[in-house]
Amino acid sequence: MRCLLLIALSTHSFGHNFLSPLTTLHSAHSTLSHAFTRRPPYTTIQMEETLRKALAEKQSAVDSQGNAVRALKAAKAAKADVDAAIEALNGLKLEKASIEKQLQATVSGGGGDGSLNREAFRQTVNNTLERRLFYIPSFKIYRGVAGLYDYGPPGCAVKSNVLGFWRQHFVLEENMLEVDCPCVTPEVVLKASGHVDKFTDLMVKDEKTGTCYRADHLLKDFCNEKLQKDLSITAEKAAELKHVLAVLDDLSSEELGAKIKEYGITAPDTKNPLSDPYPFNLMFQTSIGPSGLSPGYMRPETAQGIFVNFKDLYYYNGNKLPFAAAQIGQAFRNEISPRQGLLRVREFTLAEIEHFVDPENKSHPKFSEVANLEFLMFPREEQMSGHSAKKIPLGEAVSRGIVNNETLGYFIGRVYLFLTRLGIDEDRLRFRQHLANEMAHYAADCWDAEIESSYGWIECVGIADRSAYDLRAHTDKSGVALVAQEKFSEPREVEKLVINPVKKELGLAFKGNQRMVVEALEAMNEKEALEMKATLESKGETEFLVCTLGKNVTITKSMVTISKEIKKEHQRVFTPSVIEPSFGIGRIIYCLYEHSFYTRPSKAGDEQLNVFRFPPLVAPIKCTVFPLVQNQQYEEVAKVISQSLTTAGISHKIDITGTSIGKRYARTDELGVPFAITVDSTSSVTIRERDSKDQIRVDVERAASVIKEVTDGRTTWADVWSTFPHQSSASADDE
Ligand code: AMP
Repeated sequence: MRCLLLIALSTHSFGHNFLSPLTTLHSAHSTLSHAFTRRPPYTTIQMEETLRKALAEKQSAVDSQGNAVRALKAAKAAKADVDAAIEALNGLKLEKASIEKQLQATVSGGGGDGSLNREAFRQTVNNTLERRLFYIPSFKIYRGVAGLYDYGPPGCAVKSNVLGFWRQHFVLEENMLEVDCPCVTPEVVLKASGHVDKFTDLMVKDEKTGTCYRADHLLKDFCNEKLQKDLSITAEKAAELKHVLAVLDDLSSEELGAKIKEYGITAPDTKNPLSDPYPFNLMFQTSIGPSGLSPGYMRPETAQGIFVNFKDLYYYNGNKLPFAAAQIGQAFRNEISPRQGLLRVREFTLAEIEHFVDPENKSHPKFSEVANLEFLMFPREEQMSGHSAKKIPLGEAVSRGIVNNETLGYFIGRVYLFLTRLGIDEDRLRFRQHLANEMAHYAADCWDAEIESSYGWIECVGIADRSAYDLRAHTDKSGVALVAQEKFSEPREVEKLVINPVKKELGLAFKGNQRMVVEALEAMNEKEALEMKATLESKGETEFLVCTLGKNVTITKSMVTISKEIKKEHQRVFTPSVIEPSFGIGRIIYCLYEHSFYTRPSKAGDEQLNVFRFPPLVAPIKCTVFPLVQNQQYEEVAKVISQSLTTAGISHKIDITGTSIGKRYARTDELGVPFAITVDSTSSVTIRERDSKDQIRVDVERAASVIKEVTDGRTTWADVWSTFPHQSSASADDE
């Protein structure tokens, strides 16, 4: 939850000549070697710092050698001496250029392995995604609308697979109660939740043209650009800019405005001066019904639909805690200037879980199942001290109090498993703890699952312990108690604080304001009440702040009695805490596209072919079926296999075009289809695996069931490879 304050392959037949089993068994089918596989994180702070230092030293060596050359020339030194000095100078310049290049590559994320830099990589991925209709800019024929995108056919299939796995991994496995609430939400609900007053981003305006920008984005762009392009900045300045980036989400409106002024940041398009930052509410407003009297908003998150149904869901769950409710649905945010492609959009799918738990017991019965997981965590202290994320075992993070409680820790672990099983690279996934001010005041602890893409580290899942804030807020506004009970087996004697405002005395003293003073007295917590009692007993009166009046009033001893009484209680009534993992499905999918994409040379080596390395779970289509050549018998076999695949519930595509087999493989690799069945006889077919390009041969009748077993994860490609006659890509001559 937003804190309320992205072949020409040659045609060759490969007949039955590889039927002799196990003659070419090798391990290449499981070894992927391609440009974008498991690269280390783009930038290491240490490397960048070392390079900046080395560059500064080399620059000073160039300067002093330049001076030496000038001095030799001025002294009319021997030509050989001058030439030697110039040669040394040129050598130093070359060394400096080399360091500059390395630094440039480090800060821009271009791997030292010669792979594409971030921008070029992003372009290639996005061109492929758009050309193959994974997504389409919405309303394109009318020039589109920023921040709105359609999912095309393969995009829809990927999304449906991701959501299917989400339901399996969370809703089914944790017995969650799924609900589906409307997007249009009456104002009162979002007033209670705080969104009407505080769901804002800080905006600055071009003072001359009125164009709006997100203030924090301008500061972020400035710092990143300076770090990446201005190689002359000192290590100290670089450290300062990095610190600003680290605490960006923590800056107040005034601090943001001050930094924008200090760095002389102007409107990016016109270079005009900018206004001071001011809040802009991100909700799309509407009105419900024709009268215009009933204001409403398009929901900015799905969570509120769950909170307002708490009472019924609790009852449905047999009045037992803990339990979780889940919802998948559209959310709407009128983002100020959406510029990060599919990552920052104005309508997107959220999948949210609200796990309700007793605030006095946040242990989780299944925590031991995730306690040994070890992944990149970025605690608050590490961020503030400029360190990077490091691997910490989850059990240790909870026992050392880095993560506030077991339930929060359990969900962090489950989110890690969900994302990595989808195909997110674990080296480019980290869990970052919110900084103190970044976190809403009521929250106990918040962690974001951030995934590194060509846009940098992006929050894709927010996991927050929101304490009892939401249920209390709706209880107060609606008057319906959203509480849980713990029934005691034996009645318990409990000491209770009793605050009794003496209304007659308060009425005489405060007249029309009496009700507000009474409410403020009754709302005191135990500490405040006991302090008041002590002061009244010692001094007879005390000053008391009544927020609704906006001033202090004098309370005397006769106006209130405060005592502690022993009472028998049969149950404990309390507002549950809520732990909320909130998944931005579009962001996860985009990062998955980037993490799955790679290129490899065509067989002729004359072009780079695009491949999405989707796991079968995510792949939009699980299998393609091609007759090797246009031939009626083969086409009949292809149809029979297609029918069996349909019966087995496997999404597939049949391609009977006469295009070369190599081209057909390339087309499906670009869609991330993991398996291709090629019909080259009427009795058996080959199945090719996308990444290794290795093939097995199976009987026509077995083809669909083999695909089913591998795509369901009941067996692996390595297993079927060793079970069936096969041929490795090295010896295959199809492409
Ligand atoms: P939040 O409630 O702000 O923590 O957002 C919950 C999740 O929604 C985030 O972790 C993001 O993955 C996703 N999200 C938030 N804003 C956007 C946006 N404008 N476009 C796409 N996804 C978003």
